[in-house]
Amino acid sequence: GSICRPTGKIDDACCDFETVEDINQRFFDGLELIRTRDFFKYYKVDLFKDCPFWVENGLCMNRACGVETSDESEIPPEYRTSRLSLVSTASSSEVSPVGSDSSCSCSSRNFCHLDDENSSGAVYVDLLKNPERFTGYAGPSANRVWKSIYEENCFGGVKFIEPARPLSTGGSGFIGSESLSSSSSLGSSISSSSSSSNGFSSLVASLQAPLDSGDSEQCLEKRVFYRVISGLHASISIHICNEFLDQRTGEWAPNLECFITRIAEHPERLQNVYFNYVLILRALARLGDESQSFSLRKGDEIEDVQTRKELSSLIQSAKDCPPTFDEGQMFVGKGAMELKEEFRQHFRNVSSIMDCVGCDKCRLWGKLQINGLGTAMKLLFGGSQERRDGEDKVELQRSELVALVNTAHRFAESLRAVETFRQMFQESKRKE
Ligand code: FAD
Repeated sequence: GSICRPTGKIDDACCDFETVEDINQRFFDGLELIRTRDFFKYYKVDLFKDCPFWVENGLCMNRACGVETSDESEIPPEYRTSRLSLVSTASSSEVSPVGSDSSCSCSSRNFCHLDDENSSGAVYVDLLKNPERFTGYAGPSANRVWKSIYEENCFGGVKFIEPARPLSTGGSGFIGSESLSSSSSLGSSISSSSSSSNGFSSLVASLQAPLDSGDSEQCLEKRVFYRVISGLHASISIHICNEFLDQRTGEWAPNLECFITRIAEHPERLQNVYFNYVLILRALARLGDESQSFSLRKGDEIEDVQTRKELSSLIQSAKDCPPTFDEGQMFVGKGAMELKEEFRQHFRNVSSIMDCVGCDKCRLWGKLQINGLGTAMKLLFGGSQERRDGEDKVELQRSELVALVNTAHRFAESLRAVETFRQMFQESKRKE
């Protein structure tokens, strides 16, 4: 038989799985091309911010965790900070107080704490040279980050809770080079590390229970929050399994067993990947026409005509898609504004938790994708309730647009990888 070929309507979206598969056939190539353009391939990110929640000293000694940064001289002049620093950033009235994090520049509409591009820790990264894939980052450090992220799903009182038993900060939480070279299967090292997850699975199960049982107690907004996180987590897992290091050959290849245990055995996780895709697609459609619906911060404009054309055509194909998600159903009714503020605050916390990821490569992609999803939310829910195309322009920074497009590409690639795994599964069945 086949695995992971869900059919029918995607929960909380307004389209079905088959439509998304169809759309991805057309959309993928456009994303694959545009991400190679200078505007979209250089991402400026601060990888040296301290974790604001706990002492994280997970130093990754594994080469696969490293990020190759680009020197400013390699960056086309139009994207250099020296030029960006000439332009104004958010005015102080737009900046909302965010605890002790003084380096944050975030307008009250934002769902993320954006890095200050001028901070000394901000580096240029060529995303094409630093693909998201298996790094070996696992164990207590990775678990703690995921656990804290899921805890942000509990609105209304349940704030960040420190684990009752302090997790070791001494160990870096990596499957280090020894285990990479040992003869034991990496798969089993990973699962044994997850078994020490300190009740984490039950936390996730409790957050997820209302989704699986169809219980309507949890409101749409909270379900969406959970789906976004779980879908991102699943998408990251798919990339890990799709570009896995085969210890015997030293080659990178898809690992079917990894996919089966992390994704195929949990259909709701795959559904959440589709859900994120649908959300991002809708956000791209809402980007609309640059002259009407959004603008890039002064100095951040796309100068290359070809890239501008490619972006317009990507947005146009998103607009041409059948409706995928109805943001009009979110944050309506009594208490909507408070709920939206709470939603935003929790998502911002998730963006700060990304500074606690103890592996540079994972932190880079974690930060980028949370920024991309936060940008999608800003486009969908960020403006006044009545925002329609052409009214109340949204202003984006270059990093937000770069993150949005690259995040779209990550999810598009996940769906492609799922197809690869379906074929591998069939192949393995045939051989049995
Ligand atoms: P984990 O993926 O750590 O999951 C922990 C627990 O969460 C599971 O036991 C399960 O109960 C629950 N769970 C798992 N998936 C879902 C889901 N989709 N929805 C709901 N609940 C779920 N590793 C890399 O090799 N490369 C990377 O690029 C990378 N990027 C990362 C980015 C971030 C932000 C973080 C926090 C970690 C990253 N990691 C990366 C580590 C990776 O995500 C896993 O933590 C690691 O591979 C260990 O996997 P695991 O099997 O123990 O389960």
